[in-house]
Amino acid sequence: MSDLRYKRVLLKLSGEALMGNQEFGIDPAVPARLAEEIRPVFDAGVQIAVVIGGGNIFRGVQVAAGGMDRAQGDSMGMLATVMNALALQDTFEHAGMDSRVMSAISMRQIAEPYIRRRAIRHMEKGRIVILAAGTGNPFFTTDTGAALRACEVNAEVLMKATNVDGVYDCDPKKNTDAVKYEKVTYDEVLTKNLKVMDAAAIALCRDNKMPIMIFDINADGGFRKAVEGENVGTIVYEKEN
Ligand code: UDP
Repeated sequence: MSDLRYKRVLLKLSGEALMGNQEFGIDPAVPARLAEEIRPVFDAGVQIAVVIGGGNIFRGVQVAAGGMDRAQGDSMGMLATVMNALALQDTFEHAGMDSRVMSAISMRQIAEPYIRRRAIRHMEKGRIVILAAGTGNPFFTTDTGAALRACEVNAEVLMKATNVDGVYDCDPKKNTDAVKYEKVTYDEVLTKNLKVMDAAAIALCRDNKMPIMIFDINADGGFRKAVEGENVGTIVYEKEN
């Protein structure tokens, strides 16, 4: 692997990234491919924390629309992220990558509680830390969880893996003339309401100068190139004055 730009990264994977072509749940081939994407970066000694979403199983906001209490639905959504975290851990370990699941909601029989300093220690010891249950609070998303944890564990960058190759000025699936940004500021993302991450996540990254890199997880070697510093998608950053 050529020169590494980053030594400690936080990778945000949405739950939907685990679905493959299915409508729901986990297609086992997908986490296996993700493990192969992550492996060269792991082998190069980069410290990796993964925040996993749960949208492939459950989203609180959807059941809230049907009349269920939002906080109750969100708790169920957070539990969905724990299922995904356990699936990821199993895949990582089959691929020979040591990992630990840490949950923001205490469930000691299956996951360690999230303790910031311990998460950092795991990474220093060469273990991938899989962070489950988002922030542990309803009314948040795992994107905000990813922003929070990236700041907490002193990651150098938050890498958000998506199904598109960056941020566009409008939906590239609906508009053939959509223009991709190579770089965009946090404030532009917020004022133009660009679909990157939710506003709370963007604001947290902006206030803590945490760069965000959006890249396509389906492109082979995309994660490795991103860690080497190649701009394979879009970077959200703070413009120097
Ligand atoms: N969630 C929550 N608090 C958090 C993170 C997640 O309540 O800090 C719930 C929320 O209901 C959310 C669900 O968990 O819809 C799954 O997370 P998310 O939608 O962020 O998953 P992704 O879109 O990344 O798959």
